[in-house]
Amino acid sequence: MVYLTGAGPGALDLLTIKALRVIREADVVIYDRLANPDILAEAKDGCEFIYVGKADSHHTLPQDQINEVIYQAAQKYDTVVRLKGGDPLVFGRGGEEALYLRKRGVKFEFIPGVTSAIAVPEYAGIPVTHRGITVSFRVVTGHEAAKEKSQIPWENYKSDDTIIFLMGLHRLNYIVEKLLEIGKPKDFPIAVISKGTWPDEKTVIGTLENIVQKAEGLQTPALIVVGRVVELHKELSWFERVDGQS
Ligand code: SAH
Repeated sequence: MVYLTGAGPGALDLLTIKALRVIREADVVIYDRLANPDILAEAKDGCEFIYVGKADSHHTLPQDQINEVIYQAAQKYDTVVRLKGGDPLVFGRGGEEALYLRKRGVKFEFIPGVTSAIAVPEYAGIPVTHRGITVSFRVVTGHEAAKEKSQIPWENYKSDDTIIFLMGLHRLNYIVEKLLEIGKPKDFPIAVISKGTWPDEKTVIGTLENIVQKAEGLQTPALIVVGRVVELHKELSWFERVDGQS
């Protein structure tokens, strides 16, 4: 059995009880860069660990090889845990891994994780929805943003939905440009949150006009939140103290 398991956004205590249970039973854990490595300490003695980490732009292992690593592990062991940052099906390619296994007759289960898309803004005091401000939120891959034939339907983003960009830090410039292009005002609120839920989480709040400069030097993983909900951070920030604010 292969458990395609969400590890949560970073903080160890955001791991689900179900994930913890299968990690304790695992014969092998195949894990990512984003998963908190302290989770591995929960595995039983003799459990094998395989790192297939991916960085934002340079993949340590291509996806088809990761698929094969998981498949081979399932041939060798009874209980395989494939641990992924956040939720396995939110830009986690868990679906691709499951299809690969299914084709080869390997049983799998998904174990949901707390996704960074919601939890990281939450740790920064930014609710992704808020009555009277926004009725919906979107989670978008920033990876697509800079591509010439980007699949992102920018024209649909004129509404007041909250937009959360994952994998977008290195394309922040481009994202801001696109949002201005579709008519968002220069003073529209935007936040970049680096290392969310980790002890060194850092949130930078700005506007479309100044965020690129303000977010300079921030480390990955980082996500971007666009929308009026960002302004609630002033009052709702609880996990970190932002420079210059108390
Ligand atoms: N499956 C994951 C997302 C994988 S895509 C999930 O559900 O959270 C990887 C992207 O997630 C990163 O580029 C970053 O944008 C975001 N991310 C993951 N963990 C993060 C963290 N602790 N702080 C900020 N962003 C994070």
